[in-house]
Amino acid sequence: MNSNQAILQKQPQQQVKINLEELERIKCEFCEGEHFDLVWAIHKVPAMLSRTGKVSLFPVAFFRCVDCAKVTKIIHNT
Ligand SMILES: [Zn+2]
Repeated sequence: MNSNQAILQKQPQQQVKINLEELERIKCEFCEGEHFDLVWAIHKVPAMLSRTGKVSLFPVAFFRCVDCAKVTKIIHNT
């Protein structure tokens, strides 16, 4: 147990320093905008398909371009 804890504690120091400015940014495929809002679609799961046996909600997150308000599918393609 002690050796596992030591490994976990070392991990943050091993992280590579990343300069965000050097990373490629995802662009909107419609207008090349680089800023996105997180929006949610909420699916309703019928009782017969739900684990609990009751109707439940299944939220799915999407990114919507701030500039053209279209939902990008780029992140689902990578
Ligand atoms: Zn856009």
